[in-house]
Amino acid sequence: MSSQPSSAVDVVLVGAGIHSATLGMLLRELDPALTIRAFERLDDMALESTDPMNNAGTGHAANCELNYTPAKEGGGVDPAKAYSINEQFEVSLQFWSSLVAAGKLPTPSTFMNPCPHMSMVLGQSDVDYLRVRHETLRAHHFFSSMDYSEDRSKIAEWAPLTMQGRDRGLPFAATRVERGTDINFGALTRAFFDTLQKSGNFSMDLGTQIVDIGREDDGSWRLIAKKRSGGGREEVRAKFVFLGAGGGALPLLLKSGIPEGKGYGGFPISGQWLVCSKPEVITRHEAKVYGKAAVGAPPMSVPHLDTRIIEGKRSLLFGPYAGFSTKFLKEGSYWDLPGSVRPSNILVLASAGLRNLGLVGYLVGQVLQSNDARMKALRDYFPEARAEDWTLAIAGQRVQIMKPDADKGGGKIEFGTEVVSAADGSIAALLGASPGASTAVPTMVKLIEKCFADRAKSAAWQASFKRLMASYGQSLAKDKALHASVSAKNNEVLGLHS
Ligand SMILES: Cc1cc2nc3c(=O)[nH]c(=O)nc-3n(C[C@H](O)[C@H](O)[C@H](O)COP(=O)(O)OP(=O)(O)OC[C@H]3O[C@@H](n4cnc5c(N)ncnc54)[C@H](O)[C@@H]3O)c2cc1C
Repeated sequence: MSSQPSSAVDVVLVGAGIHSATLGMLLRELDPALTIRAFERLDDMALESTDPMNNAGTGHAANCELNYTPAKEGGGVDPAKAYSINEQFEVSLQFWSSLVAAGKLPTPSTFMNPCPHMSMVLGQSDVDYLRVRHETLRAHHFFSSMDYSEDRSKIAEWAPLTMQGRDRGLPFAATRVERGTDINFGALTRAFFDTLQKSGNFSMDLGTQIVDIGREDDGSWRLIAKKRSGGGREEVRAKFVFLGAGGGALPLLLKSGIPEGKGYGGFPISGQWLVCSKPEVITRHEAKVYGKAAVGAPPMSVPHLDTRIIEGKRSLLFGPYAGFSTKFLKEGSYWDLPGSVRPSNILVLASAGLRNLGLVGYLVGQVLQSNDARMKALRDYFPEARAEDWTLAIAGQRVQIMKPDADKGGGKIEFGTEVVSAADGSIAALLGASPGASTAVPTMVKLIEKCFADRAKSAAWQASFKRLMASYGQSLAKDKALHASVSAKNNEVLGLHS
């Protein structure tokens, strides 16, 4: 079928998840005249990883996620990643609160709610680790409000379900940060796109997949957009393209042919939750309680017992249990993984797989586990959990990055998120999974600084960055007074605990 004649815009956003929405909103604030088009293959926005039931909704601030504070060889914990994640989340909060204050985002409770963040460990060596982690983090102003306890009655006050019926023999400890959050990233994404629609110079094509992408002689990009029902095709030109397509970003990056994307591959890991249907149980828990990952588990598969607040309704989730599927998107195709293998990345994929046999073994174990085994894992957190109160639900799909290993040769798995962009800044792709949505704002700010480098340095854009994020260009980790003032403002506008 022939394509309609091309239309030209400044920016194309591929995918309607939290990252495209955040980038669109930032660019709109920086330059109201930019023409922006977004394309989403599904019939509505935010239905893949950004959908609230497809992710855990934790506002990742490193309050409770133990994988951000690894134990150091010879003793102690390394807090560097926790400081970095906490600062990035505070930047996201600043952006959201300045938009709420300007009337460009709705009442915060429609997309985020306070929810204490806890870590919980069993056994003497993990208790020792948690105590040292607490001492280390608490010394920094980011975590000065973190509480620690080995006292069972105190922990029962914080999270009663975790203590009820617990064996008294095993050493046990927990930390708690009251200023934690539960975020509905789907609602936030819709709110961003709603504001973009009202701002003008923006349009969104739903049910429309970008199926091809290529470079024009003048340096712009030509994209082919195909309606998924009816099959009409349109050719669109753009000066800048963001591949914010989640699991769909890697295939498009490889199609773009930019040298920076060469050698990249992806490895999908699916997720499952146990969801509690018993109101009497749901109302007795109000926290996100994170534990330690099992040996061989990928860092984002740390189990947690999670309060969720979605459209005012409270629920209780446990997981995620990892699984394996060859799909790159929940609504994707089983051909996604085989279709992503290229001569340029096959060695990277093979060697990254061989170097991570522990992960492969862990995934096989997760896929084969029975419901009894899932309940056993839940009972480490909630000893009196009853199987009949919980049902299994499918979470979102994550695609871990596999990339060339510059040090050892071959390939390696990257568990974070990464922006891969062309040297001329005309195209960028967001790959990877975690910490994901919580740090979308600083990730997209960095992307703008790289891909719109000259304009980002201009006085006008610098002033806008500062208007939107008061700490822009400064370090909250180093400047205690600045941190105190921005977090107080965030608390006030977003209704968070101080
Ligand atoms: C189980 C799980 C738990 C998580 N928990 C947390 C958490 O607690 N806190 C947190 O901050 N993050 C969490 N994350 C990560 C977070 O959900 C993701 O990082 C984030 O939602 C990714 O947003 P995105 O916009 O990049 O991608 P997505 O939300 O996946 O959006 C991409 C969109 O692109 C569309 N698309 C794909 N291909 C095309 C194409 N060719 N043309 C047009 N459209 C296309 C898709 O349909 C989709 O709507 C979790 C993820 C998972 C899977």
